[in-house]
Amino acid sequence: MRAAVFNKPGEKLEIRDVAVPDPGEGEVLLRVHRCGICGTDLHMTDAHNSMCAPPGYILGHERSAEVVAVGKGVNRLKVGDHVVPHPTKGCGQCASCKGGSPYFCINGPVPWFGGFAEYMTALDASCARLPNTLSLDDAAIIEPLAVGLLGIECNPFEPGANIVVIGTGPVGIAAAFWARQASAGKIAAVASSRTREHIARAVGVDAFFTTGPDLVGELHEYFGGMPDVVLECAGFPGAIELAVNIVRPCGSVNVLGICEHQDPWMPAMAVYKQLRLQFAVGTHLKMFEHAANTLDRGIVDPLAMITDIIAFEQLPDAFEALKQRGAQCKVVLDPKL
Ligand SMILES: [Zn+2]
Ligand SMILES: [Zn+2]
Repeated sequence: MRAAVFNKPGEKLEIRDVAVPDPGEGEVLLRVHRCGICGTDLHMTDAHNSMCAPPGYILGHERSAEVVAVGKGVNRLKVGDHVVPHPTKGCGQCASCKGGSPYFCINGPVPWFGGFAEYMTALDASCARLPNTLSLDDAAIIEPLAVGLLGIECNPFEPGANIVVIGTGPVGIAAAFWARQASAGKIAAVASSRTREHIARAVGVDAFFTTGPDLVGELHEYFGGMPDVVLECAGFPGAIELAVNIVRPCGSVNVLGICEHQDPWMPAMAVYKQLRLQFAVGTHLKMFEHAANTLDRGIVDPLAMITDIIAFEQLPDAFEALKQRGAQCKVVLDPKL
């Protein structure tokens, strides 16, 4: 089968033939239908990153797929089922794994990517089964949607709360979408440029601001005060400090952005405002199912985040291009092209 293989930092992904994996006990073999490129995939090719992938690794964890074979002991999924596998592989046996949360497996969870390929294996217990009526094309955004949903569910807000979303990458877009679905009041997005403003507005963002020295004042003028909640989805150094400055006293800052750099900021500001500061990681399969059911009900606004659908041949260059700031939002591999 064709796959895009990571050889080492500084080198492009290499498209080459590799063996189709065999499903082990409790595993299923999946034909990958689509797989989005995520910031985490990019980070995992960076030698300075704490999670840099080993040579020979196949990245890609935002997959929609069809079950084409089942291994020994699989009695839940069957051939023909449409699924989205979780990006973490746990033991499949502990309470976290059985409960749909392999990220918090007590027996050593590992990243389970492998979506930049025609086929991959996954644990039966770590796949969300999709409604038959949902398109596998659309299902490729379920994983990033689940990340955005986690960012709301980890520290929910009251209906009518005013929200600021920092960052308009896929996670910020997904978080803004779920904030709108959760009956937020006004939602403002903040980004370094206006390139994704139309995508943000498509999922329910009411106002758009660019970062700059006047930002905090502009936001307070827009909301007529300080917003109740800031969803930090950008992960740049200084983003948490910015969120703390923006939000009202006794408000909430939910952090989804991954900042892999030292970031000096003054925690006292968060204490003086008595903020709730919540970090969010580790999606639950229930969130995948909720995202799938939402799309299946015809609420498909977040599909606006898909800006490019590419073939294998385009993947290495598209992957490199995403390391620079561009107009793309979610770039999705279709291995069948
Ligand atoms: Zn991701
Ligand atoms: Zn486990």
